[in-house]
Amino acid sequence: MALDERAFFTDKPETRSARFTCPKCRRTNDYTVRWVRRTKKDRPPAGGDERDRAKFAKLRDYILRLDDEVTCRTCGKKFEIPSQQSMVFVDQLSGLPNDDELEREIAAASGEAKAPEDGPKKPEIPARFRQTSSNWK
Ligand SMILES: [Zn+2]
Repeated sequence: MALDERAFFTDKPETRSARFTCPKCRRTNDYTVRWVRRTKKDRPPAGGDERDRAKFAKLRDYILRLDDEVTCRTCGKKFEIPSQQSMVFVDQLSGLPNDDELEREIAAASGEAKAPEDGPKKPEIPARFRQTSSNWK
């Protein structure tokens, strides 16, 4: 029987402030959003099998957003937190001063689509193979 993922982590609630713009009244305010920080335990829980231990080895600490919506401080209407991600790996964030920073970290972490300038380069193809290769996929 596979263990629940929560058996691998220690949960610790935390709050972070973030700035959102209400979609109804367009006012921007700071809000306190509840998250839970899941820190991987020192060792896999007792009773786990081989697969649980393998899974445990691959797990990383993360934080999970608990709040899906906030109540506008200006007009009092509830609105959904516009931020897409509700789960962030802790090693993707350094310090976490605010949500802008977080968004940037997320964008950077998920930016594989944008080829990094200094990323690993493909081996050079000798010129004689390159001439007609522009149509090749
Ligand atoms: Zn509002």
